[in-house]
Amino acid sequence: MLCPKCGADTEVRDSRPYKNYVRRRRHCKSCKHRHSTIELASDLSFGKIQTLLKETKAALNNQNASIDKAARRIRHVESELVKLNDKIADAENAP
Ligand SMILES: [Zn+2]
Repeated sequence: MLCPKCGADTEVRDSRPYKNYVRRRRHCKSCKHRHSTIELASDLSFGKIQTLLKETKAALNNQNASIDKAARRIRHVESELVKLNDKIADAENAP
């Protein structure tokens, strides 16, 4: 598999079976670009491939939503830590 960014050879870093396909995490040997590939059995019909792609897209969207939610939680905790830090600094500076 060639790198979609620079065209150099890539290597597989992780390989996970999922339903009727295998998802591989790849790493470019030249530019270090990371990307994923999905390997499907060749006897699948076009309709089945479309269904699997739709399922994959939905799974990735759910994953992105979870990442966004986690990022919002982290930002909230960081904000609370800044407020707490300010309160501590105010208390230490109080006469
Ligand atoms: Zn590359």
